[in-house]
Amino acid sequence: MCPAPLLCHTSVMSADASPAVARPGTTTDVVVIGAGLSGLVTATELTAAGRRVVLLDQEPEASFGGQAWWSFGGLFLVGSPEQRAMGVHDSPELAWSDWQDSAQFSPGAERGEGPDRHGYAWAHRFVEFAAGDMRSWLHARGVRWFPLVQWAERGGYTVGRRSGGGRPEGDGTQHGNSVPRFHVTWGTGPAILRPFVAAARAAQDAGLLDLRFRRRVAGLTTTDGAVTGVRVEVLADHPTDGLPFGGRGSPSNRDVVGTEEITAGAVVVATGGIGANHDLARAHWDPEAGTLPDRMLSGVPDSTDGLMLSTAADAGAALVHEERMWHYPEGIANHSPVWTNHGIRILPGPSSLWLDADGGRLPAPLFPGFDALGALQHVTRRGDDHSWFVLNKAIMESEFALSGSEQNPDLTGKDVKLLAQRVLPGAVGPVARFAAESPEFVWAETPEELAGRMNALVDATPGSRGHVDPDDLARVVAQRDAQVSSGLGKDPQVVATRATRDYRVDKLIRVAKPRPLTTPKDGPLLAVRLSVLTRKTLGGLWCDPSGRVLQADGSVLAGLWAVGEAAGFGGGGVHGHRALEGTFLGGCLHTGRVTGRALAASL
Ligand SMILES: Cc1cc2nc3c(=O)[nH]c(=O)nc-3n(C[C@H](O)[C@H](O)[C@H](O)COP(=O)(O)OP(=O)(O)OC[C@H]3O[C@@H](n4cnc5c(N)ncnc54)[C@H](O)[C@@H]3O)c2cc1C
Repeated sequence: MCPAPLLCHTSVMSADASPAVARPGTTTDVVVIGAGLSGLVTATELTAAGRRVVLLDQEPEASFGGQAWWSFGGLFLVGSPEQRAMGVHDSPELAWSDWQDSAQFSPGAERGEGPDRHGYAWAHRFVEFAAGDMRSWLHARGVRWFPLVQWAERGGYTVGRRSGGGRPEGDGTQHGNSVPRFHVTWGTGPAILRPFVAAARAAQDAGLLDLRFRRRVAGLTTTDGAVTGVRVEVLADHPTDGLPFGGRGSPSNRDVVGTEEITAGAVVVATGGIGANHDLARAHWDPEAGTLPDRMLSGVPDSTDGLMLSTAADAGAALVHEERMWHYPEGIANHSPVWTNHGIRILPGPSSLWLDADGGRLPAPLFPGFDALGALQHVTRRGDDHSWFVLNKAIMESEFALSGSEQNPDLTGKDVKLLAQRVLPGAVGPVARFAAESPEFVWAETPEELAGRMNALVDATPGSRGHVDPDDLARVVAQRDAQVSSGLGKDPQVVATRATRDYRVDKLIRVAKPRPLTTPKDGPLLAVRLSVLTRKTLGGLWCDPSGRVLQADGSVLAGLWAVGEAAGFGGGGVHGHRALEGTFLGGCLHTGRVTGRALAASL
């Protein structure tokens, strides 16, 4: 541990440094790489225990907080007062059962065998955290939640585990939340970050935290096989004047103006996933699930580049489950992009028809909002770069929501008056803007006319393929409408949509009353072109139950720890194959807390 002064050698930073200047070295207790949510929680747990920390980030201060600032702030909580107030009966046992059914961990993980063993152990503890301490811990830090708990990832597969464990019969998954668990934070992502940013600022004032931006870690230094520090590239200033959101999230240059070496008792990797690195995502995508298309949208800022993962691997760290990713099939291009290929995810209600690039319906239970990965794999197995929602104006107004803090100004700004719009007729502002401005929202009076416009959009997109036959679309719409008009119906989507309205929140704000798509007063027909949107990385650095990074043979790589998305949200893959949503921010909080405390105790 470094003695009393903040840093044994504090380097002097100058903004106008001449290119590639080598700066004096620093010695500290811990270097945390990445000032996103997981890095912040880790750093502030360490400083709370009196450890001295250097927190580095390649981005400018404008982007402090990483992805979490942009997030919707949805948290997976179990057995909360908010759930109870909505009449939801949840329990840790039910949540853990759902988790395992969705994760499909490799056989033996529960017995501590195989590469999934640590992910499994972290998952078990995470569900306990989500059902236990997480809410009170955050509540004590001023975090509050929107009372209407949302139901993400409903699944819709038959339940019943095969006796003796192992993979279930049939679809190979029993994915989904049995009950609503997605708690939107009042103030969305920025409100989750706020207490940890405040704690970091306080630690800075106390002389325990040295926060350095425009510092890219380009290598780990090792001594006798242990990680003992980092090699840092000092990046040139990134002017943010005039940029939207004060420059937050905008791509910054990688011009190196200096280098630094920092020696530390331990190094924590908190650098996020690979979502903005489409080449890496394509390269790792499981070939059994087809291919990720050439044309994709990014649901994360360019800083989510995944490069630090291979830097850690170069130092001996094991990466596991790199083929496990959590991208979305329901992306639309942002009309006001902040980062490269900036896409927004539609959080859909269940009523839209979901059609593939050639107009075929996705199979049950791949209805909007039921199984994101299943729907995505359906698209990638076909080799397509898009699919379609077909609906009408009234369904769009009731059921379309958008993910992200900036797309939800009512919740982010804690604006109750604006929030009331969600229960009133008409689309909320951000959805209405896409409806009016996005070329991917295609409107028509008849299915035949709609198909023509859908095809024109695809034909105008270089490299894209697919054709929707106008007569086929008219027939699908008519058949679906006949099912709805019957009042009951056998179509599984129609049946499932009716069932969602048994939940009072869905009935109130999320699910339109089932009616024929061609109901004249429900407005024109609408088709929305959906593109693949990259977002989360489920695999990552393999870690033991305290967050120490492991080598391929399972031994500890001394000195290296990992948290957050870089660690697969725990153990190298807490989610297994599928996520229940709201578990990513929670996974950053959990890994940061557990690892920060364990590391502090170990120094
Ligand atoms: C629009 C959006 C909506 C979301 N909504 C939700 C939600 O509702 N619920 C939920 O659970 N999750 C949500 N997520 C996901 C969640 O926000 C992220 O998984 C989580 O914030 C990741 O945090 P992190 O600390 O692991 O990584 P990041 O936030 O990515 O932070 C990593 C930091 O490391 C820095 N870095 C990377 N490499 C280096 C290097 N070599 N040297 C120095 N610095 C480096 C980066 O600049 C970055 O600042 C959402 C994400 C987005 C983008």
